[in-house]
This record gives sequence, C-alpha cells and structure tokens, in this order.
Amino acid sequence: VASFLPKPVQKLIDEFSRLPGIGPKSAQRLAMHLLHSPDTRVREFSDAVSGLKHNVQFCSRCWNIAEGELCRICADSFRDQRQICVVEEILDVVALERTGEYKGTYHVLHGALSPVDGIGPEQLKVYALVERVQGLTLTEGTTETPVELRAAEVQGRGLVEGIEVILATNPGLEGETTALYLLKLLRPFNIKITRIARGLPVGGDLDYADEMTLSRAMQGRGEFF
Ligand SMILES: [Zn+2]
Repeated sequence: VASFLPKPVQKLIDEFSRLPGIGPKSAQRLAMHLLHSPDTRVREFSDAVSGLKHNVQFCSRCWNIAEGELCRICADSFRDQRQICVVEEILDVVALERTGEYKGTYHVLHGALSPVDGIGPEQLKVYALVERVQGLTLTEGTTETPVELRAAEVQGRGLVEGIEVILATNPGLEGETTALYLLKLLRPFNIKITRIARGLPVGGDLDYADEMTLSRAMQGRGEFF
C-alpha cells in the first residue's frame, strides 16, 4: 500500500507490525509515540534493539540467555548445580523464576519433540542435556565418599545421590512425548528423575500459568517412571 508517510516512519511501522501481537494500528501508534518522544528516549530504544544481538548469547551450560559464557543462574554458586529443571523455552525459565522458590538450575531445550513438524532431538538441546548429566554423574563418582555410596546401596535404588532432573516440559502431547523421550535417555544414569505435577492446564504453556499454579506443580512433582 502506497503511503504518504516519510520512508523512515513507514519503515518503523512495518518493523513494528512484524512483531507478534502487534497489528497495523498498534504499529502506527508505537511509531507515532516514538516520533513524539525526546531524542534521548529514541536513542535508548534504538540502543536496546541493536544491543540485543551483540550483548546476549546462549549460556554454554543450560542454553538460557546470558550476557557472558554462563547465564546468571549457572554462575550463581548459591544455586544447586546438581538440580536441573528441563523446560522448553526461555520464557518458562522466566515464569519459574517468578515464583522465587526454585533454587536449582535449568536446561532450555528450545522446543519440544514434534515428529509431524519434523522436530527431532537433533533440533533441540537434548544431547547437550545428556552430556551435562553425564558430566555431573562422573564428578559425583569421584567426590562421593564410600559411606555415601553405601547409603545409596542401602536405599536399594543405586541412585547417584543428589542429582535430580525435573522434567518441566509443557503438558500436552508434545511436552509429554519429550518428557518420555528424555526419561528413556537419562534413565541409564541412575539419577532421580521427576516430572512436574499435573494441574497445569493441558495445552497451556508453562509461561501462561500463574505463579501459584507453577509453585504447586513444582512442589507436587513426582518421580517419573
Ligand atoms: Zn545457564
């Protein structure tokens, strides 16, 4: 559609309308808002956009977003590095962090298995998770005292103590398929594997659930077989 608007304005409107949830009308309003804003505000906005790809990368351990090699959660020595909550998307980390209760770490898969859409384990950060768990069990093996090892034996489970993988993929077909697939891959490591409790709306994404529901799902997690 030909526009009487100056090209830079029209270009900004076009860019805004490509964003999810922004219709043409909202795009116009946003562009006009910026046009009326002081130069410094506009510069701050533009710096925020252009800095996004320069200053942000994926955490080399959990694939969350990070400013450096590790994200803040992986770099935090107060977080239990032996507890890994596996989620589909970065926004799920944001949602779970909002509850303020979880003190472990995460692993972001960047999607869920979906054979119909051609999304297999290679398209997700699945093997990175397996390597991470393997790394943890190896370190455990060398630091564990014989007493602790015997304790694990007495429990009759032979579990590598202290390591837990919480499968927090979304409820619904793809999330469940992914959780079952991960269970199969991780079972040989003899670690505790749990699945967040149901009660989350099926088909609803984790990041849409309210904090109360999320806390309850986390607390009510059960061992997954
Ligand atoms: Zn991380």
